[in-house]
Order: sequence, then C-alpha cells, then structure tokens
Amino acid sequence: MNETLIQGAYIVAGLLFILALAGLSKHETAVMGNKYGIVGMSIALAATLWLATKSAGFDALLIIAIAMAIGAAIGIALARKVEMTGMPELIAMLHSFVGIAAVLVGWNSSYETAAYPAIHDVEVFVGVFIGAVTFTGSIVAYLKLSAKMKSAPLVLPARHAINFGIIVVFFAMTIVYVFVPHDQVFLRQLLLGIMTVLALFLGWHLVASIGGGDMPVVVSMLNSYSGWAAAAAGFLLNNDLLIITGALVGSSGAYLSYIMCKAMNRSFISVIAGGFGSDGAVVGEAKDYGEHRETSAIEVAEALKNAHDVIITPGYGMATAQAQYAVADLTSKLRARGVNVRFGIHPVAGRLPGHMNVLLAEAKVPYDIVLEMDEINEDFPSTDVVLVIGANDTVNPAAQDDPTSPIAGMPVLEVWKAAEVVVFKRSMNTGYAGVQNPLFFKDNSAMLFGDAKERVEDIVKAL
Ligand code: NDP
Repeated sequence: MNETLIQGAYIVAGLLFILALAGLSKHETAVMGNKYGIVGMSIALAATLWLATKSAGFDALLIIAIAMAIGAAIGIALARKVEMTGMPELIAMLHSFVGIAAVLVGWNSSYETAAYPAIHDVEVFVGVFIGAVTFTGSIVAYLKLSAKMKSAPLVLPARHAINFGIIVVFFAMTIVYVFVPHDQVFLRQLLLGIMTVLALFLGWHLVASIGGGDMPVVVSMLNSYSGWAAAAAGFLLNNDLLIITGALVGSSGAYLSYIMCKAMNRSFISVIAGGFGSDGAVVGEAKDYGEHRETSAIEVAEALKNAHDVIITPGYGMATAQAQYAVADLTSKLRARGVNVRFGIHPVAGRLPGHMNVLLAEAKVPYDIVLEMDEINEDFPSTDVVLVIGANDTVNPAAQDDPTSPIAGMPVLEVWKAAEVVVFKRSMNTGYAGVQNPLFFKDNSAMLFGDAKERVEDIVKAL
C-alpha cells in the first residue's frame, strides 16, 4: 500500500463517517448508520497502522498494538458493566479522554526541535487550550451527571469577568508564544504551562456554573469541544483523517447544542457563560401548592379501559426503572383494545439527547406512535389519560407560569391540559433541575408511587 492508497482509504473512511452521521439522524436508519461508522473506523485503523509501520517500522506497530490492547480491555470492561442509565456519565468520561489526549499531543509537539512555521505554535496553543477545557469540563459533567457533585450551579462573584478574562489572556499569550524564539525553551514551556492551568480552570468553572436544567446543552457542547480537540490534534500530527473526523464531531456537536438550546428556549451564549436562570431563583424552594392525591394501579387500569386517547410521556425515571419493556407491553395491550396510544418525547427527557427514543426502540415500540413535543403538544386537551412515567422537569408547568423558576421559559409537555394525569414516581422529590412541580398538586393529577416498572406491570396485570 503506498501513500496514495492510504490517502484514498482516509477519504473512504471520511465519507463513511458522514454516512454514519446521516444514518444516525433517524430511528429507521440508525442501525445502518452505526454499521457505516464501524466499517469507516476499521478502514481508518488499518490505514493508520500501515502508515505507522511504514514510517516508524514494526517497533511502532508493537507499541500501538499494546496501547490498543490496553484501551480495548478498558473499553470492553466498561461497556459490559455500564447500565443504560450510566451512559451519559460514561460519555462525559470518554470526552475527557479526548481532551487529555489533545493536551498530551500538544505538549509533545511543543518539544519538537525541527524548524517549523509560526502556525505550528498557534496549533500547539489552541490544541492544548481546547483539550484542557474539554478535559476538566467533562470531568465536572461526569461528576454532576453521576450525582457525585450537586447539580446546582456554582455562582462565583464576577464569574463572567473570570471567563472572559481567561479567554483574553489566552489570546494574548498565544501571540507572545509565537514570537518567543525557539531556543528560549524555559520561557516557552512556562507560557504553555500557565495557559494549560488557566484552561483547566476555565473548563471546570464553565461547567460548574451551569445549573442542572441546562446540562443537556453542556453535554452536547463538550461533545463538540472533544471534536475540535481531536481536529487540533490532527493538525499537530499532520493526520488528515483526524482533522476531518474531529471537524465532523465538532460541527455536529455544535449543531446539536443549537437544537438543544432552541428546544429549551435558551440562548447559547447565556448557557455557555454559565449560571443562566439561577439569579434570584432558589432551587428547591418550598412553595405550598396544596395537597396531592394518590391513586392505585387498579384505578389507573380502570381509567385506561375507558379511555380512547392516551399519551405516555416518559422521562429519566423510566430509564432508571428500566420500565421500557413493561411500557411497551402496556402499549400493545391497550392498542389491542382499540385505545389510541401515543408517546410524547421532550427533547431533553432523560440524561442524553434521544435517550427515550433509544429505550423505546429497544423495547420495539413502533416509531410512528413516538412523537416529538412539538408534534403532540396541541393534542393534550383532547386526551383522556396521560401517563407521566418518571418524567418531572419536562412536564413542569412552572416553566410557563413562574418567571423566577430556574427552568422558566423552557418549553414543556403540557400534560396538565388532559382530562386525567397519572404521575409515576417513588416520592415527592424534585427532578434534575431541583425545582418543585405544581403539576403534582393539580385537581386532575394523581400520583402512582413506587418503582415505575413494577407499577406498570401491576397495571398490565389489572387490565
Ligand atoms: P427528571 O430528572 O426531571 O425527573 C425524573 C423523575 O423520575 C424524578 O422526579 C424521580 O422521582 C423519578 N424516578 C427516578 N427513578 C424512578 C423509578 N425507579 N421509578 C419511578 N420514578 C423514578 O426527568 P425528565 O426526564 O423529566 O427531565 C430531564 C432532566 O435532566 C431535565 O432537567 C434536563 O435538563 C436534564 N438533563 C437532560 C440531559 C439530556 O441530554 N436529555 C442531560 C443532562 C441533564 P423520584 O425520585 O420521586 O422517584
């Protein structure tokens, strides 16, 4: 295989990655999309291994093989162990690996002694900066998503000035770094070191200052950063495929962040700047909304028997309870009785973009009855029963009614407009954003307490 063949293989792999992204944008084509991605990655790996052997001999191949074996062992162990509910944390953790890889590649390139153009210095600085922000930002996201760190935003005084100041200092230091002669090794390493520490702090601070409700944007934003970090590493390593792949991940992550911001009615800049919606609002504030009403599986089964139109709005609790199979079973039983059952999916339900869609697809719920929030929101007033299965923030009317709420302005599923609403959860606790939900106290709402899977199974038995 010569140089041209390797470049050809890279182009084919790049095209397959584009096809993979296109496939992943729809339920029906997602499996095919994954297959394109697997084939593309296999071609990319084979070509890169060949390139490494050609340029550095079999010793390089041996080192890469050992590194790959260690990485694959860790990856397989993690993938086997992880529950579906732990996927968001795992993904955040994987983003941090891309970040630290870009930092290490950048530092390694900074030791290069051969003559190189000034743009190489800029690549080193930018690569290390993006990588370091991605690294600590992803670790904080991991801690917040796994509830090892509280999801409430950290609100430091002058937090915007701190973020802005670090970005200005970064630009200034990049210019200085480019002009410091290459033989001034100590000064160059000192500049790079200070910038790395500042970028590590920035990543931590940016994500720590974001409230629970805005975390979906952060996850997609870090996804995007990890792509740009990989692209920066591609420039440093002179690897075209890494540049293409990084740019694909970076731009699709940026677009996803835009979609998430639109879905949550947030401005991208406000979310990135941190602490949005937290000023003046007390998270978890105890307001007196009155008494809630409890119901039983038998009563819910009766209501469902008499219903014509039913909408199910799942949330993160369906994922933790692994209730999707029981929900699919309930759906097919009701449909067999002639009930019109549909699903209403909020864009940020669960802890990952598309989380609910994946679970429902896994349980073989037909795609055509799974609708997006915009497609179903107008139908709630003509619905007999809504089953809110482990959802909370995404069905919270305070988003519309309470301008001081941290989730104020976020579009929600207007479930309370239906004739009857049943909320499946284990307690009266708040959802991820830490705010109370007035839905639970409305006259047409009833709480069905307990594990969502067990309660749905009880209803199926009673039908
Ligand atoms: P929420 O996180 O708001 O609420 C989930 C509810 O499920 C809780 O109130 C909990 O109540 C209940 N629950 C948990 N386990 C069970 C169980 N075993 N059985 C029954 N109920 C259970 O969920 P939503 O999906 O409505 O909202 C998602 C939230 O996560 C939003 O704030 C969103 O911004 C945020 N987020 C979303 C991301 C994404 O990409 N989609 C990423 C990061 C954050 P109880 O404890 O009483 O049972």
